[in-house]
Amino acid sequence: MKKRYQVVIIGGGPVGVALAVELGQRGIACALIERRREPQRIPKGQNLTQRSVEHFYLWGVADALRAARILPPSYPMSGIVAYRDLNNEYWSAPPLREIVNPYYFQENERLPQYQAEYVLRTRLTQFENVQAWFGWTAECISQDAAGVEVAIAEDGGPGRELLQVDYVVGCDGAHSIVREQSGIVRGGADFEQLMVLALFRSPELHDKLKRFPPRSTYRVIHPDLNGYWQFFGRVDVGESWFFHSPVPTNTTRDNYDFHALLQKTAGFSFACHFDYVDFWDLRIAVAETYQAGRVFIAGDAAHSHPPYGAYGLNNGLDDVVNLGWKLAATLNGWGGEALLASYSKERRPIFKETAEDFIEAGIRRDREFLRRYSPERDPVEFARAWQEHTNASAPNVLTYEPHYEGSPIVCGPPGGVSSARGSHTFKARAGHHLPPQLLSSGRNVFAELGSEFTLLAFDGEDATAATFARAAQALHLPLNIVRDSYDQGRRGYEAKLILVRPDRYIAWAGDAPPADTASLLAKSLARDRNGQRDKQLVRPRE
Ligand SMILES: Cc1cc2nc3c(=O)[nH]c(=O)nc-3n(C[C@H](O)[C@H](O)[C@H](O)COP(=O)(O)OP(=O)(O)OC[C@H]3O[C@@H](n4cnc5c(N)ncnc54)[C@H](O)[C@@H]3O)c2cc1C
Repeated sequence: MKKRYQVVIIGGGPVGVALAVELGQRGIACALIERRREPQRIPKGQNLTQRSVEHFYLWGVADALRAARILPPSYPMSGIVAYRDLNNEYWSAPPLREIVNPYYFQENERLPQYQAEYVLRTRLTQFENVQAWFGWTAECISQDAAGVEVAIAEDGGPGRELLQVDYVVGCDGAHSIVREQSGIVRGGADFEQLMVLALFRSPELHDKLKRFPPRSTYRVIHPDLNGYWQFFGRVDVGESWFFHSPVPTNTTRDNYDFHALLQKTAGFSFACHFDYVDFWDLRIAVAETYQAGRVFIAGDAAHSHPPYGAYGLNNGLDDVVNLGWKLAATLNGWGGEALLASYSKERRPIFKETAEDFIEAGIRRDREFLRRYSPERDPVEFARAWQEHTNASAPNVLTYEPHYEGSPIVCGPPGGVSSARGSHTFKARAGHHLPPQLLSSGRNVFAELGSEFTLLAFDGEDATAATFARAAQALHLPLNIVRDSYDQGRRGYEAKLILVRPDRYIAWAGDAPPADTASLLAKSLARDRNGQRDKQLVRPRE
């Protein structure tokens, strides 16, 4: 007999498990299909942004995430960047993501991706409405107007099942079969460069890097390497490391001296023991759309790229937080197909621009710097340019502020365009992340947000709150209203009324009630002025 779910998530890497938790919290009946029984113990995806840690807070596991950190508490998360090798006189320790901590409710964090996956997998066990099929592979997805069917097979066993669902989300990584089978094409840039990823242990490397202040990563830019990085990352303090670097196209595990490569990058000799060596192609790929009918893609299935700047996992987590509430709203009867369509409209431009303006532009900037300046040609000019070049990372962190100003479901500024580039401020702006603030109770506003929409009403009239509540009720939209004085840090919002979406983005902000509250709420759900929905693919549960 076919098994029936509302949502099937294919791929239970960090992004798929995160979506299962998001939907689990929202009471959606879903299945998670993951071929691996245990997370892959590769210490990638280490650098979690403040926004990602906010998600863990709202999934109820921020403390568990911090406890799963391997580096000692408060060990610096940023890195060293050096010219040519780590023995060079030209190096710097620029500040990184920590400089935007005040604009988020949670500080950024650093831990291997598999540690975060264990935290999420543990949380997942608490939802009776989520069934995890670890050790199963999705083989075939087919959809028609009535729903989607997913054929799954037990790995190494006889089990075969056919799942019948309303929606499928492919979180099945860069080689996604969900993307392929639903006919979604990818564009992007192939740098035609093979990269090695190695895990090794070396207490000696740890000792020899003591000439630098304590840092988590060590990045080398070398004039021969076209702007591509050589990168040592700590897994712990004292012994374990990961390393990635360009290697010649025909490199295999057996025909190359990786120990010599590590020592050349370090600029000194050291003993090491390899635990793992693998390869990947340096390329950026972004799907043309994140949706085909009832099928969605998220995480690396939708966008893959070199790990330059730590955008991958963080963007994947933002994808599922954006999609999760829209799927649940639709299945619970107050969303709709137009709301679901806003997922691709909001998320895709962000990643496309992240790829072009941050990742590719960063490679080009390094390449141009290495081409133009050389300490051998002109040491004085080089020293000045090196300072300037390495100081450029701080402005990049400050301007990386993904927002949906151009989204059809937020009341952004006239002519607003969604972008990965923005600015950090405490002002409440429609289409942007809600900055944190303390309420007069001493609690942070984030601790008071509901799981659905929230209206923050500062010094608001009873009548205004009542109008919002009535309009929300008419749309069956669950609305939490938080009232407080317009005082202290809350004045920093520069708005007395703020409508916050379930993904903690601001749908609308103003000082006075909107002229037509019902239309405002309807727009936030992609409904028309009368609150009407587009044709429903799914009948809400009674
Ligand atoms: C060296 C390195 C360092 C990185 N550092 C960072 C960083 O600091 N910060 C950051 O944000 N990102 C980083 N990234 C990127 C990050 O690791 C990826 O973006 C992240 O793994 C994407 O997660 P995902 O769940 O979308 O895909 P994946 O991790 O690829 O997971 C996909 C899952 O789907 C499963 N699967 C695939 N097909 C099927 C199927 N048919 N049926 C069932 N299961 C299936 C796979 O087994 C896998 O578990 C780094 C990447 C690398 C290589």
